[in-house]
Amino acid sequence: MEQAVHWADIYAEKIIREKGKKEQYVCASGITPSGIVHIGNFREIISVELVVRALRRLGAKVRFIYSWDDFDVFRKVPADMPHRDKLEGYLRFPITMVPDLTGGEESYARANEITLEKVMARVGVHPDYLYQAQKYAAGEYAEGMRRALEHRELIRTALDRHRTEPLPSDWSPVSVFCSSCHRDTTKIGEWDGGWMLSYSCDSCGNSEKLDLRRSAGAKLKWRVDWPMRWAYEGVDFEPAGKEHHSAGGSFDTAKEIAEKIYGYRPPVTFKYDFISIKGMGGKISSSLGNVLSVADVLEVYQPELVRYLFAGTKPDTEFAISFDLDVIKLYEDYDRCERVYFGNEQMSEKRAQKERRIYELSQVEAVPEQMPVQLPFRHLCNLLQIHDGDIASALARFCETENSELTGESLKRAETRAECAWNWITNHAPEDFRFVLRGVDDPVEDLDKASITAIAGLRDIVESGLEAHTEESLGTLFYTLAEKNGLKPAELFSTCYRVLLGKDRGPRLAAFILAAGGERILPILRRY
Ligand SMILES: [Zn+2]
Repeated sequence: MEQAVHWADIYAEKIIREKGKKEQYVCASGITPSGIVHIGNFREIISVELVVRALRRLGAKVRFIYSWDDFDVFRKVPADMPHRDKLEGYLRFPITMVPDLTGGEESYARANEITLEKVMARVGVHPDYLYQAQKYAAGEYAEGMRRALEHRELIRTALDRHRTEPLPSDWSPVSVFCSSCHRDTTKIGEWDGGWMLSYSCDSCGNSEKLDLRRSAGAKLKWRVDWPMRWAYEGVDFEPAGKEHHSAGGSFDTAKEIAEKIYGYRPPVTFKYDFISIKGMGGKISSSLGNVLSVADVLEVYQPELVRYLFAGTKPDTEFAISFDLDVIKLYEDYDRCERVYFGNEQMSEKRAQKERRIYELSQVEAVPEQMPVQLPFRHLCNLLQIHDGDIASALARFCETENSELTGESLKRAETRAECAWNWITNHAPEDFRFVLRGVDDPVEDLDKASITAIAGLRDIVESGLEAHTEESLGTLFYTLAEKNGLKPAELFSTCYRVLLGKDRGPRLAAFILAAGGERILPILRRY
């Protein structure tokens, strides 16, 4: 096999090297579903998915697990959340016991989980989802909790080393949701050295002894829960965000606890950086809070592009998801990557090798057998605006002018791209970029004599047929037309834009007229 050039392949090789030859490798990711899972969290999931694919390419069997930390406590009601007052009554409950007041899901946690699980399938991410509340309730982690209680002092020392204030003397690695009022406002009492643990609740006064194997209320605190689960699931690889990877952060302490308490060699990891958002203005559209979800990104970027953004950037570099004019460039970059993959564009072999790998990793499912028909994003934006957002008409016009056919995979991708392009135009594109073709009932522009003659000249050109023209040949005619009428080219262009679009500027004129076609253009020109 050729030498690895992509970061996902380099990490896959590292996992095999460091963890040795194994029957199966376990790659893990996870989060607390306490709100909308945003695009920054998605970076972790997609990073793992890319490494999973790279491992499988090396012939390894891989289990990709995604842990929903849904036995975490409901700490605060997210900003902009409807039914605030009602939700505040559930603070300190496990989030699986907080009701879903906006939809019909069984809990607040489940509502957030389902939203993400659906969108993951759209971008080709298919992990085994693990639900921590269920696993704790089933007693799967009873032994892990017992062992933590047994080594309480060792864990305390490990954690205290990175704390300015030492943990209190009654600190316990286990916390308990009260069986009576469901809050975690409890104090841990005596542990009998086996399975029985007593606690008392500050909120309701309940006090009892629970059995770690049967109680649904007990759980490990985060910094202990994480390494316990590495050992339990046999995790070989798990990346983490910057905040966990700081010195003395939860990854560092988890490593020590995994080794000393659970006798487990920590997973291979890397640190991934933040994602910022560019060019979105005040238009963040998430229904819950001021965050950008994966679904929001999919409104503007087709699934392959979403994967491409992450596959093409090293995880430890910060980058911005753009909603401004960069969107056009990113689509162009992706299309070039695709042409390189299918050998329709050349570049140095070293760069081409990397581009080909990025293309493979950007595909939602398998790489298409043939290169899909490419619809340049900018051109597509023009076609859509010419056809008032009607996707079928815009695509039909594309096929007509390009003498091309859209079927199967090409059609599917073209339709998705067209939906994204239209969303971008209507919600994010700069004002300059937007236009509406003049209708025959719109007021006519007030033009001087030379301009009227020039427009008549343009009408003659269009009437004599556009089929034989290229963008270049038509462009040349404009310059001749301007000269003949004593106009500067810039004057002629702005006159044409005013006549056709009712504004001074617009898309490249020749390309625009060819895209629109005589049928759309002539009724407008004939009014002058
Ligand atoms: Zn209670």
